[in-house]
Amino acid sequence: MSARIIDGVAIGKAIRAEVAADVARLKAKGVTPGLAVVLVGENPASKAYVGSKEKACLEAGMHSVKLELPVETSETDLLAAIDRLNADPAVHGILVQLPLPKQINSSLVLNRVNPAKDVDGFHPENVGLLVQKRPRFVACTPAGIMELLAREGVVLSGRRAVVLGRSDIVGKPMALLLMHADATVTVAHSKTPDLAAVTREADVLVAAVGRAGLVRAEYVKAGAVVIDVGMNRVADAAAAAELGPDRGEEFTRKGYLLVGDVHAPSVRERAGALTPVPGGVGPLTIAMLMSNTVSAAEAAAGSSRAGG
Ligand code: NAP
Repeated sequence: MSARIIDGVAIGKAIRAEVAADVARLKAKGVTPGLAVVLVGENPASKAYVGSKEKACLEAGMHSVKLELPVETSETDLLAAIDRLNADPAVHGILVQLPLPKQINSSLVLNRVNPAKDVDGFHPENVGLLVQKRPRFVACTPAGIMELLAREGVVLSGRRAVVLGRSDIVGKPMALLLMHADATVTVAHSKTPDLAAVTREADVLVAAVGRAGLVRAEYVKAGAVVIDVGMNRVADAAAAAELGPDRGEEFTRKGYLLVGDVHAPSVRERAGALTPVPGGVGPLTIAMLMSNTVSAAEAAAGSSRAGG
């Protein structure tokens, strides 16, 4: 069997087109959805993420604010910057790019974002609403995965789902969303014994671990839907050849490969459907960030989006 490869780029594009239509509709009513992205320091990966978020916002016709602060910024100064964005009526969504430098307490900063502008869904108020199945803003990666599963027609009700990883930004909200969609959910992590036996139970397996190629064919039930959240940079030639045997030219050109937590060459032959890395979950994350920002703008303007 060869798995259907789910095209996250196409799904992300479709969501972004819908967001752009919503933006146009809101603009006609005099409201331009605005997203502020706060970046502290010079982390190249963070800079790249922030750049692509800004580009996507501008393409959708949204207002974009990029606040770049030096690496030595104090916690007090960052909190003051967040306060200014909280008070700015042109900013409907605020995203603080993680990780933050060592001198700054990330929880303190994330908790300072006005929950009504917390389009990342990290504020305890929004996490609590999700737990109670009254979601307002849901973390973008798991929210994007739910969109992807819905648009691919994957049935969740009554099925076994396993989430590998229990982080606040992916694993935990993912498990809640799957549970609310009536799947029977197991959360596995680094202390789970006999991981493969647990993940093999899954009709839908979500891997969010940060370990290149950890999930191999023997971890997967035949025909399962496998969602690979992992984003791992592999610069070792032998490892890259093993994880992406058909990507030799790409490795030579870039000097590294971006691979998922799933060992694609073996899992492709066992799963029913699989998201690739890159081009699977990644494009959904940005699309949902924009969608959340439009919802925030609608809420601020006093109307609410169907399904948003
Ligand atoms: P994280 O905070 O580091 O959490 C990783 C989780 O995996 C933890 O719960 C950890 O268990 C578990 N784990 C680690 N090693 C394990 C092992 N050998 N066996 C079983 N479980 C193991 O990571 P994250 O922020 O959730 O991100 C996970 C991956 O997704 C990363 O590669 C990240 O880059 C990627 N990501 C991608 C996107 C996207 O848009 N595509 C967005 C976010 C994250 P413990 O809790 O026991 O330590």
